[in-house]
Amino acid sequence: MKNKILSITLGLALLTFSRSLFAGEVTINGIAGFKDTPMQPDGKWHVHDPDRPQPPIVAPGAFSTQDQPGKPPADAIVLFDGKDLSQWRDKDGKPAPWKIENGAMISAKSDIVSTRQFGDIQLHVEFCEPSPASASGQGRGNSGVFLMGRYEVQVLDCYENKTYADGATAGLYGQHPPLVNACLPPGQWQVYDILFTVPRFETNGAVKTPAWVTVFHNGIAVQNHQSFRGSTGWKSPGKYQPHGPEGPVGLQFHNDPVRFRNIWVRPLQPADEP
Ligand code: MG
Repeated sequence: MKNKILSITLGLALLTFSRSLFAGEVTINGIAGFKDTPMQPDGKWHVHDPDRPQPPIVAPGAFSTQDQPGKPPADAIVLFDGKDLSQWRDKDGKPAPWKIENGAMISAKSDIVSTRQFGDIQLHVEFCEPSPASASGQGRGNSGVFLMGRYEVQVLDCYENKTYADGATAGLYGQHPPLVNACLPPGQWQVYDILFTVPRFETNGAVKTPAWVTVFHNGIAVQNHQSFRGSTGWKSPGKYQPHGPEGPVGLQFHNDPVRFRNIWVRPLQPADEP
C-alpha cells in the first residue's frame, strides 16, 4: 500500500514536471522550441527560438599522422595540399620560390603570402623542423606564420633549444611567450591550429579592438585569446598601423629549410554582438 502511494505520488510529480518543462512549446518546420521566452539581446530571436537558422552542416576532416597528412574539413579553403604552390606568391607578387618535396613545401629564398585575403579565420598549419638540428636559439629552424601578413606566430625548433621567451615556438614574436613549450623533436610533423580575429580600427585610426589569437600547438593551448600589440618585429614591442579587414596568410623564410604541409583556412563569421 505504502509503495503504491509512493509510486502514484512520484507519477503525479513527474507528470507535473514534464508539463511545466514543455509548457509553451511550439513546433515550426519540425523543430520544437519556444516563442513565449525572453528575446535575445539582438532583439531578433527568442531564447530557444525554433525559427532561428540552423547551423550549416560541415563534414569534419581527418587528423594527420606522422606518415600521412590528414584531410581538411569539407568547407575549408586549401592553401597547400602537397601538390603545388598556386595559392602562394612572394611579396612582390611573383611565383613563390619555395620548393616542393615529398608533399611538403620547403622555406627558401623569401617570405611568401597567400594569393587569397582573409578576415577572421581558423587556420591549420603543419610544419616539420630540419633534422638533425643545427645552430641554436633563433637560428634553429626559424620560420613563422604571419596573420594578415603582419602578426607573427613564431615557428622555431625549441625542442631542447632555449631562446628569449617572446621568440619561442608559438610565441607572438616579441610580445607574448607561449603558455608552454609543446615542441616535438625536429624531423617530426607538428601542428598549429589558430583562431584569429582581425583588429578593428576607428575611423581616426585608433584601435577599437586589437587582433586576438588563440593557438593550439600539437593540440595544446599555447595562446589563449591573446592580443597582439600591433605588427610584430625584431626588437619592436609591436605597433599598429591601421589596415583593412582582410589580409593574406604569410609564411616566413628565415634561412632555414622548414617544411610545411596540409595548410587550410576556414573563414569565420564575426562573433555576435554581446
Ligand atoms: Mg620567425
